[in-house]
Amino acid sequence: MTKEIPNLKWPLKPHPFMTIDEREQAILAPYALFSRDSQGRFRAETEHPYRGPYQRDRDRIVHSGAFRRLSDKTQVFSDVSDYHRTRLTHTMEVASIARTIGRALRLNEEFIEALALMHDIGHPPFGHAGEDALAKCLKDHGGFSHNQHALTIVEELEERYAGFPGLNLTRELLAGQATRVDKSQSPPSPPLEVQVVDAADSITYDAHDTDDAIQLGLVTLNDMLSIPLIKTCAERVCDRADSLSPSLMRKVVVHELIDYLVGDVLTTAELQLAQSQPASIDDIRQHGLIIKPSEAVAGEKRTLEEYLYRSVYRHPDIVRVRTAGQDRLRQMFDGFCGNPEWMPQASRDRIDAVGLPRAVGEYLAGMTDGFCQQEYSRHFA
Ligand code: MG
Repeated sequence: MTKEIPNLKWPLKPHPFMTIDEREQAILAPYALFSRDSQGRFRAETEHPYRGPYQRDRDRIVHSGAFRRLSDKTQVFSDVSDYHRTRLTHTMEVASIARTIGRALRLNEEFIEALALMHDIGHPPFGHAGEDALAKCLKDHGGFSHNQHALTIVEELEERYAGFPGLNLTRELLAGQATRVDKSQSPPSPPLEVQVVDAADSITYDAHDTDDAIQLGLVTLNDMLSIPLIKTCAERVCDRADSLSPSLMRKVVVHELIDYLVGDVLTTAELQLAQSQPASIDDIRQHGLIIKPSEAVAGEKRTLEEYLYRSVYRHPDIVRVRTAGQDRLRQMFDGFCGNPEWMPQASRDRIDAVGLPRAVGEYLAGMTDGFCQQEYSRHFA
C-alpha cells in the first residue's frame, strides 16, 4: 500500500532547526566569510529557504556539465592504468584537504568546498599540455588560461537556468576564482577560505603525483628517499611500523606526506592568527598571505616539485603522450577554424560574441580527453 507523503511546507513554523546565520555564528571564527555578508549574485534571486548562498554555489557546480566532464580529463597521467588520478578525483581530493584545513581554522567550509570543486572546471583535455597548446593557438587572441576559462564557463557557457546564462554564482565565489587568475599577493588579500583552496591544491598534487608516479613505475620510493620531505615522512612511518609491503609503504608515506603538509600549514596559520588577532574579514584583507607552508617546508616542497618536474612530468613516456595530445589539439584548432560548421550550434553562436578563434578554443577546452580523441578520429584520422 502506498504511504501518503505529507505535503510539507518549508520553512516549518515554528522553525525547528538553527538558521544558517545561527549555525555560522556558533561555528565560524570572526574573520571567516559569513553568508550574511554575501554581496549576492549579479542577477538577483530570492534566498533559498534552507540552503545558504555558498551551499547553492556548490550545488550548482556539482550539477554542471563542465564538472561532470572532469571525470574524463587528464590530471597528469592518461590511459596508462585505472589507478591514477583524473581531473575529477584530483578536484575531490583538493576539496577534502581544503575542508580539513578550513574546519580546523573555523572557516566557511561551504564556500571552501564550492571553490575547490570549481577551481579546475576550466581545464581543457590533456591537462597542462592541453592548456599550453591552446594558449599557443590563441596567443594572438587573448591567450588561454584554465583559471580564466573556469570563469567563462560559470558566467557564460553553462546553460542550466531559465532567465540567465551561466550559474549566477555569488560575487565572493567569482572573486575567489579571479584571484587564481591573477596570483599577485599584495593587499587586499583574498579571504582565508580562498587561500585555503590554493594551499590544498598544492598539497594535493604534490601527494598524489608522488603516489601515481611510484605506482606507475616512473620512479621508485627508493629514488625518492633522496628528497628530504619524502625521507622525513618515510622515517616517521618506519618509527611506527616495520615490514610493510612496498605497495602499502608507498600509500602510508603519501598519507604521512599529506598529514605533514597540512599540519605545517595549520601551525603556520595559527601562529600568524595569534600574532595578528584578526577580528573580521577586513583585517584579513589587509594582512597578506596567512595560509601557506612555513619557510622551511616551502623549501622542502620546492625540492619535491623540482624532482617531480624533472623525473615525472618530463619522463619520456609522459612527454610522448603530452606531445601527441598537443599535436591533436593544434590540428583540431586549425581544422575547426577552417570548418566552423563542424562545431555544434551553441559554439557557432559564440563566434559573434568572442570571434572564431576563441569560439573554437572554448569548444576544444570543453572536450573530455575521450570526446577529443573521437572528434579527432572523425575529422582528421
Ligand atoms: Mg588543481
